Amino acid sequence: MSKKVSILLIYTGGTIGMVKDHPSETLRAFDFNKLVSKIPELSQLECKIESISFKNPIDSSNMNPSHWVSIATIIEEHYNRFDGFVVLQGSDTMSYSSSALSYMLENLSKPVIFTGSQLPIGDLRTDAKENLITSIQIAALQENNRAVIQEVCLYFEYKLYRANRTTKINAEHFEAFTSLNFPALVESGVHLKINQNYLLKNQKNKKLTVHKVMDTNVAIFKLFPGFSRELLQGLLNIQNLKALVFETYGAGNAPTDDWLISDLKEAIKNGLHIVNVTQCSGGSVIMGRYSTSEELKRLQLIDGGDITTEAAITKLMYLLGSGVSHKSFRTIFETSIRGELT
Ligand code: ASP
Repeated sequence: MSKKVSILLIYTGGTIGMVKDHPSETLRAFDFNKLVSKIPELSQLECKIESISFKNPIDSSNMNPSHWVSIATIIEEHYNRFDGFVVLQGSDTMSYSSSALSYMLENLSKPVIFTGSQLPIGDLRTDAKENLITSIQIAALQENNRAVIQEVCLYFEYKLYRANRTTKINAEHFEAFTSLNFPALVESGVHLKINQNYLLKNQKNKKLTVHKVMDTNVAIFKLFPGFSRELLQGLLNIQNLKALVFETYGAGNAPTDDWLISDLKEAIKNGLHIVNVTQCSGGSVIMGRYSTSEELKRLQLIDGGDITTEAAITKLMYLLGSGVSHKSFRTIFETSIRGELT
């Protein structure tokens, strides 16, 4: 008889495990053990489930890279004992956390699935049960004694996505995430429909390497009509700033004002890495397609292609933290390392 698949739940906080404070009705995180008792259905699953909780569960707005290191460390320490991992966190920053973990966990051969919910688990109309149960079922999928999913994913409302392709698009709908530039990996209906061709696999069975240094000397500047030189300069003049996500319009376009081009040129000359990422949730940067991006191309801004802002900012933290040389930074950023770019 084959041994039961074992799954580790890592509870970091979020609505899924929150309760309403009375009389204020504010949602606060509560003890994870109570979460498990709220879902007796878990005992019907054909896998062994254990759980670990952050000592102080948090609303995901309080997430920062030190929490990502904690999640990575828990996975590292339990990697050999478990067949899959389900990370429960709030949805607000889930695309950032899961993108970060996709870089931090190199050569994964087991699933790491982030999920959460829009309504607390105790709520009558909660989406938490389906999200949690299906995430566990997908994490437990095996073929020839190997995990079917071997990457960091995000599961929400009947769809499993590659984590670093997702963006939170809705604060109310159960369908809170989208992945406009990459298809869902698994769709949950009567059956689980697995899109085999899109899955990442650890082909050579390389050993897991966990990267724990994330450099936060990064920033995001989102263009808007009328932004001032003063505002941009305030950012570019920050001491120790090493990399910037420059969120442009459409296919990577920006105003053509001379001052803007010269300020960017100066910043690049001083060593700042600037990545051109589109503000659109779908589609790609194509520098040079319009005259409004020709200068950016000439300045050799790093081409963000169809990367999301969440995947771009965390990739910058990871590459800077890994000590990638200045010379190869651009090439490595423009190369897909965990399926984050087409
Ligand atoms: N504010 C919550 C959080 O991100 C929302 C959620 O759980 O989805 O922690």
